[in-house]
Amino acid sequence: MESANNFAFLLPVMMLIFGCTFLIVGRFGSREAKLWGPGYLVSAAAFSMPLIVGFIPDRAASLIADLLFLISFVFYSGALLCRFGRPSSLMPRLAFIGAMYAGILYAALVAESVPIEFLLDDLGCVLLLAFAIVMSLRRVRHTADKALLTASALVVAETVIRNAVFVFIAPSYGGSGGFLASNYAFAMQAGASIPALVFALSALAAATLDTIAAHRDAAERDPLTGLLNRRGFDRMVEESRGAEGTVIICDIDNFKWVNDTFGHGRGDDVIRAFAEMLRLRLPEGGFAARFGGEEFVIFLPSAPLVAGADFANRVRLAFAAIDRKAIGFDGKVTASFGVAAANAADHSLYEQIARADKALYAAKEAGRNKVMVEGEPPHDMSGPRLYHASEQHG
Ligand code: GH3
Ligand code: MG
Ligand code: MG
Repeated sequence: MESANNFAFLLPVMMLIFGCTFLIVGRFGSREAKLWGPGYLVSAAAFSMPLIVGFIPDRAASLIADLLFLISFVFYSGALLCRFGRPSSLMPRLAFIGAMYAGILYAALVAESVPIEFLLDDLGCVLLLAFAIVMSLRRVRHTADKALLTASALVVAETVIRNAVFVFIAPSYGGSGGFLASNYAFAMQAGASIPALVFALSALAAATLDTIAAHRDAAERDPLTGLLNRRGFDRMVEESRGAEGTVIICDIDNFKWVNDTFGHGRGDDVIRAFAEMLRLRLPEGGFAARFGGEEFVIFLPSAPLVAGADFANRVRLAFAAIDRKAIGFDGKVTASFGVAAANAADHSLYEQIARADKALYAAKEAGRNKVMVEGEPPHDMSGPRLYHASEQHG
């Protein structure tokens, strides 16, 4: 049993390291890591109990460890539910471990059966985890989600198998005492730490990836409107891998006047309201960015020019008709739009954006509150196609 003693030291240290690592990830804003962290610290305490059996009675140490394991699985299941955006169900989970612990106390103190005590403890832990897995299944999106739920299921399966072996095979070793001393039991203990390790690592990977994604998302969004900023827009364009589509640029009309007349704060409200109009009407697959001040760029991949023009006009009409009192603002505000199609000679989307920008400029020149469509080659451009305020589209 020399090597089993090594395990006794290794596990709490491992759990302690995971606990601290999760707490560090939690400091970067990961809510799930803030649950995994305490979970692993409680596990570390539970795995430390065999080390202090010399100082307190065996029975007490074992009962404390049982409770700590249940508590750690309350944290683990909570972390899974949190990660997959499921209701925390904390009260039912606490009531459940309360009931399990009552059973454990009965088994240990009244029935005096150590095997049943351990069985109930494992069962309590594993049922909490299984509950969180089942609740989270439908929220699986990425590889990290699948890896985490698979690792969780592995822990459940290993615990169930280990207990089944203990119940059905151990008696043939002449009672649990003989079984615990066997090499087979040692191999099982060693084997149990592998799913535990895979579980911890996949949870850490998932929490870390989520944190990185959240920070990247924040870096690519405009804080005022929640739309993409230019960096985010560039990445989305890169991800759409040269898909051709329609570009729309829009700019709020006479915005300087809005700021000067109603104050910068009201100006911000108008910018937010405009962004919301865009977001609500944006077709599937399209994306919108705030490029600066009161200027927005929209890319509609694989949308033909007329669809882009129609979209721009719907946003224009909706914005001109917005209930300004609702945003605490009592003046007429409109926006102008420039729309451009892809050109086979374009080297980048920015050439198309430049053409949309020219169209926007023409819309401003033509009196504002208009959509100007660019797209026809200059030789047969018989005149700008304008959607006037009087043309009541959608
Ligand atoms: P036009 O119809 O030609 O577009 O006229 P405009 O007054 O809208 O154009 P201009 O580009 O001269 O004015 C934009 C103003 O937007 C100037 C700037 O102070 C203001 N602005 C830029 N960013 C913000 C912002 O985040 N919040 C607010 N409230 N105002 C901003
Ligand atoms: Mg403007
Ligand atoms: Mg401007």
